[in-house]
Amino acid sequence: MFSFLTQRLYNKLIFAFVFVLLIPTSVISLYNVQTTSDTLIQKIGSEELSVLVSQANTVERRLLDIKEDLIFLSQAPPTRHYASLMSQTGDVNADVNAATRDAQIALFKTFLDRSTNQYKDIRIIDLGGQELLSVDGLGQQLNAEKNGENQAGQAYFNQAIGLASNQVYISDFNLSQNNGHYDIPYVPVLYYSMPLQVDSAIVGILVAKVILNPILKDITLHSTTPIFLVNSDGSYLLNPDPGKLYGKILNTGVTFDNERSSKDVITMFGKDQGIVSASTDYPDTLQAYIQVKPETQIGIRWLLIRNIPINTILGEVNKTQLVALSLSLLALLGGVIVAVLLTRSIVRPVLKLSAVADSVRQGNWNVTVPHTGGKDEIGHLADAFDAMLRELKTVYGSLEARVMARTAELESTNLKLTEAQRIAEEASRAKSLFLSNMSHELRTPLNVIIGYAHSMIAMPQMFNHVQVQDVHRPYLKLIEDNGHYLIGLINDILDLSKLEAGKLELLCTTVELTEIFRGVLSTATGLLKDKPLQIRPDYPEYLPLIWADAIRVRQIMLNLFSNAIKFTATGSVTLHAEATDGWVSISVIDTGIGIPDSARAMIFQRFGQVSLNKEIEGTGLGLDISKQLSQMHGGDLTFDSVEGKGSRFTFTLPIATPEQINSALPQKQTNAGLIIFDKSALDPDDIYSILLVEDEVSMRELMRRALEASGYIVVDTHDGAQVLELTLGLLPNLVILDVNLPHVSGWSLLQQLKANELTQAIPVIVYTASADRQQAMQLGAAAFIRKPASPEDILRTVRDALHVPDAIGDSFTSPLS
Ligand code: ADP
Repeated sequence: MFSFLTQRLYNKLIFAFVFVLLIPTSVISLYNVQTTSDTLIQKIGSEELSVLVSQANTVERRLLDIKEDLIFLSQAPPTRHYASLMSQTGDVNADVNAATRDAQIALFKTFLDRSTNQYKDIRIIDLGGQELLSVDGLGQQLNAEKNGENQAGQAYFNQAIGLASNQVYISDFNLSQNNGHYDIPYVPVLYYSMPLQVDSAIVGILVAKVILNPILKDITLHSTTPIFLVNSDGSYLLNPDPGKLYGKILNTGVTFDNERSSKDVITMFGKDQGIVSASTDYPDTLQAYIQVKPETQIGIRWLLIRNIPINTILGEVNKTQLVALSLSLLALLGGVIVAVLLTRSIVRPVLKLSAVADSVRQGNWNVTVPHTGGKDEIGHLADAFDAMLRELKTVYGSLEARVMARTAELESTNLKLTEAQRIAEEASRAKSLFLSNMSHELRTPLNVIIGYAHSMIAMPQMFNHVQVQDVHRPYLKLIEDNGHYLIGLINDILDLSKLEAGKLELLCTTVELTEIFRGVLSTATGLLKDKPLQIRPDYPEYLPLIWADAIRVRQIMLNLFSNAIKFTATGSVTLHAEATDGWVSISVIDTGIGIPDSARAMIFQRFGQVSLNKEIEGTGLGLDISKQLSQMHGGDLTFDSVEGKGSRFTFTLPIATPEQINSALPQKQTNAGLIIFDKSALDPDDIYSILLVEDEVSMRELMRRALEASGYIVVDTHDGAQVLELTLGLLPNLVILDVNLPHVSGWSLLQQLKANELTQAIPVIVYTASADRQQAMQLGAAAFIRKPASPEDILRTVRDALHVPDAIGDSFTSPLS
């Protein structure tokens, strides 16, 4: 694109130069051509005119010379002598004075001999018109016998008689005649005549017949230009076309007046001399004219014209034009070359600058601005650009250095951040691990403590039926209750840490709420202990299936119930549920102490407790966890309370969509492919053998005791590696499997048991601290017990798994009941 622009600049400049050059050149050339042609016409015209002037002068001088000749002849002594003889005798011929006549003839002859063919003849006429003497141009006497004819009627005779001496009459031109016929070829002649006087008296007339041809020859000699000589009557004396001569005399009708327009005739006869260019009659001709009027003479008034064809002039003009045009073209060509060179000299540095700018734009700073070498604006521009580039380079360099420094700083900060993040993540991981380990580590001994405390009061059969002393009972109960409190606290902390880490996952499926309600109400009744409270169910028989994690729903409800019972002394705790517009809202309504307005904000805060009544247990974590669990389901947990009147805690859960209902497989289908333990194979009277796998010794001992006290045969092991072998060897009725075993994973043991034909039918209860019920069930476990569990829970689950009635073993009363 850039080169395209440059090209345009280049073209524009050339165009500008040439255009600027072309206009004046053309104007000058045109003006030159015009001026040259005008000047040329002027010049040629005046040249022709000056030739004409000299020709006219020659003619006039010749005519005057003849006059002088005649005067000389009239004054010559022989003539004077002859004239006086004429005056004395009156008849010269009759006189015997032949000598006088001969002397006269000799004079004429001598005279005519000198004037070459100028005269046709010279005569002397007496006053009567009688020719006395006549000599022809060769000096021969004419008409000697009859003394010539009478010429009294001739103009040259009549005019001459009236003249004074030394005055000469010159006739109009005529054609020479002989015996009444024109000489052929025609000879134009003039008659010069003058009186011969003796003592002031005229005695005769001297007449010379002058041939015009020698005079006219002088005009046409050496001239290539057509020349016209026109007599005053319009007859041509000279004409390039001989047929047009002597029109008036010969009566041919061809005269100057007839041939030319009146305008030309008037112009040419009106002025002494001049030039007529491009007239109507001769449009292609330049005509120079002059009048021939010898001084002192009356009779002669001729017009001499030279015709110069304008073509020749135009030829000249064309030649000039051609020269001018060639010069113009040459100038133009030179101009174009100069323009191209000049443009290149302008554009080239610009082009170089552009290239430099372009490469700077592309990030290449290692370019130098070329020296244009000029002191002109472009040179200045290049210098300025160079300075700017150097400045930019410096700035860019320092900028780069700063950017690099900043980048290095950023990188090191990033590294530190990454390290800090890594440490934080590690710390978080360590915290989670610690919490989970701690909870495991704490719950196991706690379970043992609770189990034994409870068993010592409620299961004397575990101790050879030795009853514990009454004095110890309340303390054992205290141990059990505090143990439960601690386990609840640990579970809450574990849940919170998982929520915080975003690691708490919901195992959602379709949930029948009324089923959960029944369990919760039963547990709540157990929580009442001796409180005079009424537990009231208030929900419709049929509620829609919800999409939720049943364990978590139960957890939220138990928490709300536990709080309601805790903070209500008398009255009731109601479980209300209703379906509204895609949601089921579940409320736990109590008639307890309520929550003061001032405390509303802190209710859902972690560790937030309204009263610090030490008698009322609590961690301040339950509502926080419950709200978060509700929100994870897409719902929320809110409350409404009037201090002293009671509280209403409500949480919402989504109704399962048809797609969710279709996608949720029933539990039995989940276990499809696995052989379900056939309860009909068991006899209630049988003694059941149980393989108990638990690595933690005190827990294993407690469980073994509890199971044995219930009549089961228990084989226990801490070693996971022995499990398969023992199962195959014993083929127990049930396996209780802890999955967190050293060296071997309980999950893989479960898979192996379920994969083996011989063992796959044996029900396995998975017993673990982690909440992996789904996994356990999918791998084919018969039941799932989450640690910690009381001996009663374990026994109940065992009975359920074996499908044996409560008859087997002692049934425990719940520690909560
Ligand atoms: P905890 O009950 O373990 O202290 P919770 O987060 O469950 O922790 O409850 C936080 C606090 O909210 C309680 O300590 C109590 O002050 C108040 N509270 C919760 N439920 C009720 C209720 N039903 N009636 C009155 N106060 C309640």
